[in-house]
Amino acid sequence: MRLSNTFVKTLREAPKDETARNGALLVRAGYIHKEMAGIYDYLPLGLRVIENIKEIVRQELNKIGCEELLLTALQNPEPWEKTGRFSEKEVDVWFKTELASGGTLGLAPTHEEPITSLMKNYISSYKDLPRYVYQFQTKFRNELRAKSGILRGREFLMKDLYSFHATEEDLDSFYKEVEKAYMKIFEHLSLGDSTLEVFASGGMFSKYSHEFQTILPVGEDTIYYNKNRTVALNKEVLNEETMKDLGVKRDELEETSAAEVGNIFKLKLKYSEPLNLKFVDQDNVQKDVYMGCYGIGISRLMGVIAEKFADDKGLVWPEAVAPFKYYLVGIGEAGTRRAEELYQENQDAILYDDRDVRTGEKFADAELMGIPYRIVISDKSLEAGSLEITDRKTGDTKLVKTLD
Ligand code: ATP
Ligand code: MG
Repeated sequence: MRLSNTFVKTLREAPKDETARNGALLVRAGYIHKEMAGIYDYLPLGLRVIENIKEIVRQELNKIGCEELLLTALQNPEPWEKTGRFSEKEVDVWFKTELASGGTLGLAPTHEEPITSLMKNYISSYKDLPRYVYQFQTKFRNELRAKSGILRGREFLMKDLYSFHATEEDLDSFYKEVEKAYMKIFEHLSLGDSTLEVFASGGMFSKYSHEFQTILPVGEDTIYYNKNRTVALNKEVLNEETMKDLGVKRDELEETSAAEVGNIFKLKLKYSEPLNLKFVDQDNVQKDVYMGCYGIGISRLMGVIAEKFADDKGLVWPEAVAPFKYYLVGIGEAGTRRAEELYQENQDAILYDDRDVRTGEKFADAELMGIPYRIVISDKSLEAGSLEITDRKTGDTKLVKTLD
């Protein structure tokens, strides 16, 4: 991408009403645009980050046999009425709208009801099980407070996976596979060291669910974990019973703020029963389908990564999610000519700052945008037959002959 070619501009100041650091930095660096509280546009650079995060998630889910689909955001009230969740009493974040031809529709805050209904068309026998389906979908939630930048959107991108099983044992074993896949995902995102699997409330159907919480000062959640991080739980289950179940004492637990980046839940028969999703078993008996659901906050993750690694000069993207690996600046006539060539040879990896602005401004934008490596080609570096590469994270500079 050539910077001269994009409409995006970096800003000296963030919008006044953007109090969250992730939001302020992402707006200033040209990754997102704020429409109103909790409502953002993703600009070309931001979209590339989102796509990189999605791809990492997709790879790991496909490895454990999951299939990708895309459900509609518009919700027929029918299945939601069957589970009682179309009412604001049950789900207080609904956005609803009217059909021109009459009748109310919802904008999906989540997709358990429609996916369970959909699967009735495809699951009828034990031979149709197990099945694992997921999507990357826009969710709509009328969140009361949306002051955390893209950590809490009123419209946001979620990866939601749903699993369908003949037995509870099968659900249990797939749940364990998802736990492992999630930790791999967070490792690929450079959040492996700071993300803990945390015991959380399981609702009425399961004693516990699990959340994946990234330790972060501005995180909205409070979690507790022991010294070697083998046990972690969230505030809602911090009680005598849970501590006994997990074999820990209160004084062994440290408190920290964290952001929930994902969660996994054994739904068991919670949705299959009211929505009548059944199958016929080998012994010809009709049974309810066991279900699990597994979420990851894709846009929240972008905000968490932005927030976690930023420094006083701006964003610092880990290479795996960065929109481009290199930020290229040519200085002087020969330097600019060589920069142009290098860009032609590596267009996918390079954000080429070919704008007619001062070099100092280019360097400041390279830092604000957080591109992992800055390449400078000048007459001086050319004399040495090389490119000067500076690591955004460490500030270390070295001369190299070619890009790897
Ligand atoms: P929270 O407690 O943060 O509101 P939740 O329990 O409502 O989250 P789920 O409904 O299980 O979350 O959604 C799955 C994932 O989607 C969460 O783990 C989180 O990463 C993300 N998520 C939830 N709400 C939002 C939001 N308003 N904006 C951005 N991401 C969100
Ligand atoms: Mg919520």
